[in-house]
Amino acid sequence: MTSTERGIAAAEAHSAHNYHPLPVVVATAEGAWMTDVAGRRYLDLLAGYSALNFGHGNRRLLDAARAQLERVTLTSRAFHHDRFGDFCTRLAELCGMELVLPMNTGAEAVETAIKTARKWGYQVKGVPDGRAKIIVADDNFHGRTTTIVSFSTDAEARADFGPYTPGFESVPYGDLAALAAAVDEHTVAVLLEPIQGEAGVLVPPAGYLPGVRKLTRDRDVLFIADEIQSGLGRTGRTFACEHEDVVPDVYVLGKALGGGVVPVSAVVSSREVLGVFAPGEHGSTFGGNPLACAVALEVIAMLRTGEFQQRATELGAHLHRELGPLAGGGAVDAVRGRGLWAGMDINPSRGSGRAVSERLLARGVLVKDTHGATIRIAPPLMISKADLDWGLDQLRHVLGI
Ligand SMILES: *Cc1c(COP(=O)(O)O)cnc(C)c1O
Repeated sequence: MTSTERGIAAAEAHSAHNYHPLPVVVATAEGAWMTDVAGRRYLDLLAGYSALNFGHGNRRLLDAARAQLERVTLTSRAFHHDRFGDFCTRLAELCGMELVLPMNTGAEAVETAIKTARKWGYQVKGVPDGRAKIIVADDNFHGRTTTIVSFSTDAEARADFGPYTPGFESVPYGDLAALAAAVDEHTVAVLLEPIQGEAGVLVPPAGYLPGVRKLTRDRDVLFIADEIQSGLGRTGRTFACEHEDVVPDVYVLGKALGGGVVPVSAVVSSREVLGVFAPGEHGSTFGGNPLACAVALEVIAMLRTGEFQQRATELGAHLHRELGPLAGGGAVDAVRGRGLWAGMDINPSRGSGRAVSERLLARGVLVKDTHGATIRIAPPLMISKADLDWGLDQLRHVLGI
């Protein structure tokens, strides 16, 4: 048995099979590269679904984590700690908002946003108790908790996990008329990804997000933007909403906020909205812990310079110049995306998304398929142009272009 086979066999023997990983066993990583247990190197074009926007082993993030490890790592929110205030202040500033509610995983932050919207609906908007409705979009991905899968339209994510949480209605993504028709007097929020990541990097039609913004404002409904995957530099801006000059009422953040070091998520909004919480009504043992705050503070500092957004813009333009012309050429049916983020629908003649991912793996490139035919490309934002070009060469090779 090779070391790779041993690693895979050990994982399969005693882990629930809720994932279908590619057959590679990573041992170390640095920058945009991962090395497996056999010493083979791979270019990472997934970046932990955008959790690794700043690359593996980022010096600034590791130094911040290491320094904090030696000071204090966890207090619980029973006490104040000396990184918490700074973290909330800086994150609120980055978002142009007032208040921050920190959690750990993305799903927890989405749950928090749902609770926020419902409470705001009852306390501020005056919706009758128990009637609050939240509108979401078809093909959404907001996480894996029971409430969140209740409003998923993906059978795989949802089947056999009922009974489902009521209070949600799903409408086609990108269809403003359908959204407008769904809003009623009990609607407290519209929850959307400004670009749908797991669905295959679906960018809504121009004007959709501003339309949602106007509609929600006119109807006294909160616009909650789940920027867990699209935010924090990936699209070339701090937030994907910025491409259309839209400011939502609530940002939901995660993934890159923890720099790929620790899970950090947050809901960020105005005092009017997040101010609805009183002590004891919501929380998390680990949310806003000192280690998380120290790492996230460094992430925020890196985003404030704009250099990663700039890189995502420039390399993203290059990526789409390279990939765009492939669409319709026989191997690739469609290419979508924004910034350093692309979804490609592979023509069935070239195999499934999984098959293409496995062929890329064999050539030293890591990507992950989604929904059968689509592969997603989301390298760390610090990837060099030469490495990206090499990765694209491998992609063209496995597609027979
Ligand atoms: C990944 C993701 C989530 C869930 O985050 P977890 O940390 O996996 O719970 C929620 N929303 C979006 C848009 C995501 O991409």
